[in-house]
Amino acid sequence: MSFRAQVLTLFPEMFPGPLGLSLAGRALAQGTWSLDVTNIRDSATDRHRTVDDHPAGGGAGMVLKPDVLAAAIDAAPHVGPRLLMSPRGAPLTQALVRELAAGPGCLIVCGRFEGVDERVIERRNLREVSIGDYVLSGGEPAALVLLDAVVRLLPGVMGSQASGIEESFEDGLLEHAQYTKPNSWEGVEIPQILLSGDHRAMARWKQERREALTRARRPDLWQSYKAGKI
Ligand code: SAH
Repeated sequence: MSFRAQVLTLFPEMFPGPLGLSLAGRALAQGTWSLDVTNIRDSATDRHRTVDDHPAGGGAGMVLKPDVLAAAIDAAPHVGPRLLMSPRGAPLTQALVRELAAGPGCLIVCGRFEGVDERVIERRNLREVSIGDYVLSGGEPAALVLLDAVVRLLPGVMGSQASGIEESFEDGLLEHAQYTKPNSWEGVEIPQILLSGDHRAMARWKQERREALTRARRPDLWQSYKAGKI
């Protein structure tokens, strides 16, 4: 059964974009996942195909109209959760990515302008998801980020399934440093232990490096990791 992604956007030309290439693109061509992109503007009913209006109570910018957006949502098949890309949303985490990848698909609403009318979020049960504490000009790049993370977890997409398990965030730690040939480059050697062939020692080294790196760079992750271990 393939994962079904539905995207509602004012800029359908932005899709599949980077997801048409490399691993995600191959998986798309092979039918491991499908992508339906709908222009929200197709749901506008007036002569000018209006999708936005001034914010109630004043303020800068424009707001996506609830009637037009709801019509676009209602016209889409209901498969999996409905997400709204939003800087106010719950942070996108590997746990959420895994949850989505395990399901049948999702619908993603890409906001524009100042955002969308709050009533659509409530009435259509949109789950707000943020890709980080910064503001984009539209939800499209955020949707591409989310789908990239989800698609690589779908069965058969990654060459080696093992590489998904050892990665950053999969067990709450960042990944250890990686090296490849040449063994000596600009006078810097690959750590001896990685060339030793001693698998237990290498596993211990990797775990130590992951813990040290996480402690140094991401005290927040380190705290949760330690709390989870006890
Ligand atoms: N006025 C809004 C920002 C609107 S940005 C506010 O202050 O919260 C326009 C659109 O870009 C949003 O509707 C959302 O869909 C998208 N967007 C911007 N930043 C984002 C982020 N960090 N994560 C996910 N989507 C984002």
